[in-house]
Amino acid sequence: MWNEGEQNISTQTLFWTVYNILQNLPLLVDQKMGSTPLLEETAAISVSLSRADGTIKGVPHYFVIEKHAHRAGRRLSRLVQAQQTKQVVTSQPRQHYCPHCGSICDLEISQQKMTSIDGEMTLPNLVSHCRKCHCGFFPSA
Ligand SMILES: [Zn+2]
Repeated sequence: MWNEGEQNISTQTLFWTVYNILQNLPLLVDQKMGSTPLLEETAAISVSLSRADGTIKGVPHYFVIEKHAHRAGRRLSRLVQAQQTKQVVTSQPRQHYCPHCGSICDLEISQQKMTSIDGEMTLPNLVSHCRKCHCGFFPSA
């Protein structure tokens, strides 16, 4: 059985790979069709993986197919959210004024658990601890 908390490395690696391809080859994305050859291929690979790992066997009730597809979509959504957030965080300056005392503070990237509409995930976030006034802050907040 497919548990939400379990990590399927093969599927996760697949989604990261496809997502990175989509990000790096935007010309392959056909906005009018709403689907692309790469997304079609992703779906086909997802079906193959679900059959190979026994998540879906034989002739399942359609509910099983839909449930598996929905979970795959939610995983992809979380991966896209994480990648988008990482891109935003890593593109920001690494110093920020302390909102309490105005000192210039170094920022660090921390990992923060959160729950999106598609489930729990860990996202990078910029944080700082002011050496002068000892206040911690998130510059994005
Ligand atoms: Zn301060």
